[in-house]
This record gives sequence, structure tokens and C-alpha cells, in this order.
Amino acid sequence: MRGAIFITLLGFACGAVTLTASAETPSASAELTPSAIALYSRELPPKFKKAPYSIMSLTVGHPNDGFQLRPIALKTNRYRWVKSAPRGNNWGHPALVKMLKRNARDMARAVPGSKMLVGDLSSKKGGPLSGHHSHQSGRDADIGFYARNAKGKPVTLKRFVAFDGEGKAKDGSGFEFDDRRNWLLVQAWLKDHRAGLSHIFVSRPLRKRLLAYAQKHASKDHVRAATILLKQPKRAEDHDDHFHVRISCPEKQKEICREEPRRR
Ligand SMILES: [Zn+2]
Repeated sequence: MRGAIFITLLGFACGAVTLTASAETPSASAELTPSAIALYSRELPPKFKKAPYSIMSLTVGHPNDGFQLRPIALKTNRYRWVKSAPRGNNWGHPALVKMLKRNARDMARAVPGSKMLVGDLSSKKGGPLSGHHSHQSGRDADIGFYARNAKGKPVTLKRFVAFDGEGKAKDGSGFEFDDRRNWLLVQAWLKDHRAGLSHIFVSRPLRKRLLAYAQKHASKDHVRAATILLKQPKRAEDHDDHFHVRISCPEKQKEICREEPRRR
């Protein structure tokens, strides 16, 4: 069908919004919201439909209102357990996926036997993901905590376990928050400048715990950087059973990628 089409956008705090766009003028998509672009045949501004963009992985829109094109998958190997893979929620922008690969490998080198527990990234196409507000554009990932058993021996968890500020598992399983390995992971993120990490979300009590450990064992620069990057997001559930990491928009995709969540 040709001519004008009407796109109704739901989910805005102010209620439904109706946009009018011509089906034959994709350039109109430059003004549309990512939701509208997704509904509107996933059209992008013309520039992003040509080489080199037409063969690149693209992250489009906001973390909580976007999608992705040509992402890559993070799979389980000896350094990492990707529990989201069977559900197909293990797709992300290469900058994120490659960073997690480096992190898992570096952790296994620093503390032999360590295996990183990876939860959801995004679905292959992106867009809304069950159980999350964000994770829509391939820039977010949930990473489980490293833990020790009641005897203090490092263990590999295969599920997310919530910990309190004392480092004790909230489910009574006896697992303990492994301060050293969890700090080493945070430090690996701080040192990894290739991906351009923008946030590390974690609950306030665990943030305090990690910073207290870092004060004793890390450089002042790393403590300062961690103080800025580690945060519990406002209006979100307590991140007490995993880290949530987000990378920044790739430099060449700033026109179609939005750093911050859309306000609802
Ligand atoms: Zn998350």
C-alpha cells in the first residue's frame, strides 16, 4: 500500500502518540523515534543503508527503546558460562561482546579456574526483552558475581545469586561474595578502554563493599574511576545478584545511537 501511513506509538508516559509518515520517504525516518523506525520497516536514515554501514553491526536508539542490526553472539567456552544462550538473548554489538570475551579470559588468567557467568545481552534483533527495561540495542549485559563457598573456596555459579552488604548469599545457600574476584572484574572493565564502558550497575551495599576492598588493594586512580562508574540506577530493582554493564555509543553511530534511556 502506498501513500500516507499512520503509526501509533504506545508506551509513552503521556499516552499514545500518532505520527504520520509517507511510506515512500524513508528520509522521514530521521525524525522518527527508534520505536517508530522499528515499526516503520526498520528504516534508517539513508546514509546508514549504504556501505560501510550496510555491512556493519549497528546499535540503534536508546538502551530502553531501540534495536540492533547484524550483532554477534557470545557463546559459552572454558572461560565463560553464557546462561542466556539457550534463550537467544546472547547477542550484542561487537564492542560489547569482544570486551566480555577479553574480561572472561583475563579473569581466568588472573585467577585460574574462574568462569564468568553471563546473563542476558540482547535478542538478535533487539527491542523489548522480557524482564528488562533496557537490553534493547546490544549495548547492555548482565554478569553474575564471582562467589566462594562456605569454606572460602572459589566456586563457579550457574545462576545469579543475590548478596547482602555483608557479602552473604541472601538465599541461605552459604555462598559468599568473592570480593577479590569481583573487584578484579570491575578493574578489568576500568582498564578496558576499547569498548568505552559507560555504566556498571550494582546495588549500593555491594558498591560500598567493592570500594572498601579497592581502597585497600587498588590504586587511587582505579578507586576514583570505580566511584564514578559503579552505581545503582534510580527507579530500578536492586542490582544485588549481578553487575549490569553498558557500553557507550560507537563514535560513528552517534546519529542513530542514543546514550541515555528514553524518559518515559
Ligand atoms: Zn541488566
